[in-house]
Amino acid sequence: MSDQTRFTLNETDLPKQWYNVLADSPMPPQPVLHPGTMKPVTPDFLSVIFPMEIIMQEVSTDRFIDIPEEVREIYKLYRPTPLVRARRLEKALGTPAHIYFKNESVSPVGSHKPNTAIPQAFYNKVAGTKAMTTETGAGQWGAALSMACNFFGMDLEVYMVKVSYNQKPYRRIFMETYGAQVFASPSDSTDYGRTLLAKDPNNNGSLGIAISEAVEVAAKSGGVKKYSLGSVLNHVLMHQTVIGEEALKQMDLAGEYPDVVIGCVGGGSNFAGLAYPFLRQNLKDGQRTRLVAVEPTATPSLTKGVYTFDYGDSARMAPIVKMYTLGHTFIPAGIHAGGLRYHGMAPSLSALYDAGYIEAVAVPQVRTFEAAVMFTRSEGILPAPESAHAIRAAIDEALDAKAKGEKRVILFNLSGHGHFDMMAYQQYLAGELEDYEYPAEAVAEAMKDLPQVEMMAA
Ligand SMILES: *Cc1c(COP(=O)(O)O)cnc(C)c1O
Repeated sequence: MSDQTRFTLNETDLPKQWYNVLADSPMPPQPVLHPGTMKPVTPDFLSVIFPMEIIMQEVSTDRFIDIPEEVREIYKLYRPTPLVRARRLEKALGTPAHIYFKNESVSPVGSHKPNTAIPQAFYNKVAGTKAMTTETGAGQWGAALSMACNFFGMDLEVYMVKVSYNQKPYRRIFMETYGAQVFASPSDSTDYGRTLLAKDPNNNGSLGIAISEAVEVAAKSGGVKKYSLGSVLNHVLMHQTVIGEEALKQMDLAGEYPDVVIGCVGGGSNFAGLAYPFLRQNLKDGQRTRLVAVEPTATPSLTKGVYTFDYGDSARMAPIVKMYTLGHTFIPAGIHAGGLRYHGMAPSLSALYDAGYIEAVAVPQVRTFEAAVMFTRSEGILPAPESAHAIRAAIDEALDAKAKGEKRVILFNLSGHGHFDMMAYQQYLAGELEDYEYPAEAVAEAMKDLPQVEMMAA
């Protein structure tokens, strides 16, 4: 075991391939259904909003997919990212556990999101796309795609969930600085947005609504604009596996192997990015690492949702997929972890969780910020509220190890920093934050609106 604190790799160690979990997942992939016909979608349908290379990656079962040189060149602006042993946090907790974190907050925009924004923009550029559209919750994804589109010389329209647009003006200005155009969603620039605003001008928006708006703009552009999603889909989770591939090498440098790997989950991409390469080692190499996905009690898709076919968005324009869902009509409470407020969960992750390959826990907001502040004061990095969910779970693991007198090796993903989340910290420090437990009855109620998918189709 090494006595170092930071484990850094050279540029030459930057992974040359992404890992595709579908090659090894013991569960066969479920069909993706057309929102209108409820029959399996054709590449024709998807090609209205995505370039062909992305569609091919989405359905690929190849174990490894080469990372284009153009993408690796941009990755080098911030990758490989450091693996850090949180020695000061260990000491503050008085735990015999060893806590490591992968620091994805060092990317130019402050999160893991560029890992997929860069290749998605690249494949669009190569396919001749002129402009891209997307949604953003807290603004992390919008900022990442704004940077990537700017690097490849493409325009970008971002539909930003209205509550975040109002709470986080600096993130909007960040996106505009890269050259993107940002709309508060629901907006009056789409049919769907106008319909919602006519019903309720104060509609605060949701990720599902913003996705619908961004998809509508791309679908009605006659091929000029393409849509991009920052999480949930197979290709997105695959692009994020650079995190776990690097972490495997870095744990090796540290001379340890994790007993537990932890990540927060919104749509599942940063968790999968770290965890899937370790899952491969579990499946292929006889390792027995526990993989723990952490979600807020306010959006408990894995721990309280239902594993079923549901729409990917609120307007029922996006494909229907089999996933853990709170229902596409889900309207989240205004909790601060904006990036964790999606109603569903990545299909590949949902299938693995359903089959018991992955664990999940839900943590409440106040204890999450308590962990964030403890991390800030011990390690010096102020985490994103989303990432703080992983920190909370890592601290709970370390305390459990302490109670049991066990040496446990814990690895978590620090998916981003929280420099644009000061309002949330201000409210926490003033004692104004509240917990919110999403009621099981609301999930049951939302299940009445599920698409009536014939099991024949599946
Ligand atoms: C977007 C975001 C998340 C949640 O999205 P996943 O796809 O589940 O990773 C988590 N942390 C940060 C910092 C984010 O920006």
